[in-house]
Amino acid sequence: MLFIETRGNDGSRPSSVTFSEAILSPLCSFGGLYVPESLPRLGEPFLQAHLDSDYKTLARAVLTAFELDIDQAVIDRALDLYDGFDDPSHPVPVVRVRDDLFVAELYRGPTRAFKDMALQPFGVVLSSLAKARDERYLILAATSGDTGPATLETFKDRPNVKVACLYPDGGTSDVQRLQMVTADAPNLKVIGIHGDFDDAQSALKTLLSSDSFQARLRERHTHLSAANSVNFGRIIFQQIYHIHSYLELVRQGAIGLGDRVYLNVPSGNFGNALGGYYAMKMGLPVEKILISSNSNNVLTELIRIGRYDISGRKVIATRSPAMDILKSSNVERVLYDLFGARRTRELMAALDERRHYQLTGEELASLQAVFAADYADDAEIDACIRETFRDHGYLMDPHTAICFKTHASCRDKSLPDIVYSTAEWTKFSPTIAHALTGEVDSHDIDALKSISATADTPIPPMIGALFDRPVAQDAVIDKEDIEQVVLAFI
Ligand SMILES: *Cc1c(COP(=O)(O)O)cnc(C)c1O
Repeated sequence: MLFIETRGNDGSRPSSVTFSEAILSPLCSFGGLYVPESLPRLGEPFLQAHLDSDYKTLARAVLTAFELDIDQAVIDRALDLYDGFDDPSHPVPVVRVRDDLFVAELYRGPTRAFKDMALQPFGVVLSSLAKARDERYLILAATSGDTGPATLETFKDRPNVKVACLYPDGGTSDVQRLQMVTADAPNLKVIGIHGDFDDAQSALKTLLSSDSFQARLRERHTHLSAANSVNFGRIIFQQIYHIHSYLELVRQGAIGLGDRVYLNVPSGNFGNALGGYYAMKMGLPVEKILISSNSNNVLTELIRIGRYDISGRKVIATRSPAMDILKSSNVERVLYDLFGARRTRELMAALDERRHYQLTGEELASLQAVFAADYADDAEIDACIRETFRDHGYLMDPHTAICFKTHASCRDKSLPDIVYSTAEWTKFSPTIAHALTGEVDSHDIDALKSISATADTPIPPMIGALFDRPVAQDAVIDKEDIEQVVLAFI
């Protein structure tokens, strides 16, 4: 399987690359992204054959269908990381919360957010490739709270890869901050920035385009790669759990094989939703993919009226911060799939230059054939968390809660809906505590204890232990000093 570029080829780069090339250097012509040249057709025989497969067996089969240039032994070692999830034989439980609403719990890995689903195996693959080529890589990450911990966790002590992770000091929950600043390994550097997530993100972009920085990297024989979901090495692992969740519904007797379902995805950078889109294209019987957003509702607008417009917008800080995003990178891969490279390049250029683009009526219709969308504000999310716990005893995080609104507003058929739960309640405990008991501004440790008592549920050990672990990373700096600190690190 080869990979090609969403905005076409500029003549100076190869016109197609292998999977390993695409993940080691994800930058493309005209600022585009790599996508598979074609998708394997899996269809009903594949689903039938994997009705009783466990997660790793299914994953191996999906990856095999992609014919990746990665040794089977490396893939096996990568998938073995799912053994570190709560239940090694069943890393992604799918639970029925009420009537036709099912929740696929994607957060049962080491850092309690769904980022582990892809980053855990990705870390093994990237580091193995770097080692086999005898090359050194630097991963630069800017995080609003979930990507950072998951990236640090997966690369901890792995050969040939170093990670420098920027986070906004004061802009994450205590749990998220502790997950980062207690990360202790010689190949990890965690840097707090005076500022918000946008400051951290733009500082990282400045660094990436700095000539002196690039020159210094070359002197140190270090290549740059990325661990965010522009890297297809993450997307490849994000198709599997959509297929798994569908098969779970069949196994639970909720649907028959071949029946259609809705997939309902809390979306920010659109990696999770893109995985569902590819699964659908490969033959998973999906009625529609429901895109759930917070008050930063650019995606809702795109899917409802065909206009992507960030010209008059600023990021709104919400209580579902992992989705406080205006430029949702992976939408581009859907545009490419639906409208081709020329049109994608045109639309993305309009977004870069004029900060908006408008789809034609025909284009909008093809988008709406696959997607529907809605959003919820903080007050609605709060009410949804409270009512779902009160009525169904189900505890969920603020991102997941939005899907419960979309479940009610976006389905035009009464088919089962698979909601993708992207984080455990423990990562956003002050918000959950507020929803359940009305308490305000509690520290994470107090909120965790009060939720644990109210809901009669234990605090998982990896979260409880954070509060006793020594701080290993204490850098908090101005963004002007980042280049110097990162260079000193590598
Ligand atoms: C990253 C994240 C999201 C957004 O996922 P995308 O794949 O970027 O759309 C949603 N919820 C949580 C908790 C996350 O960490």
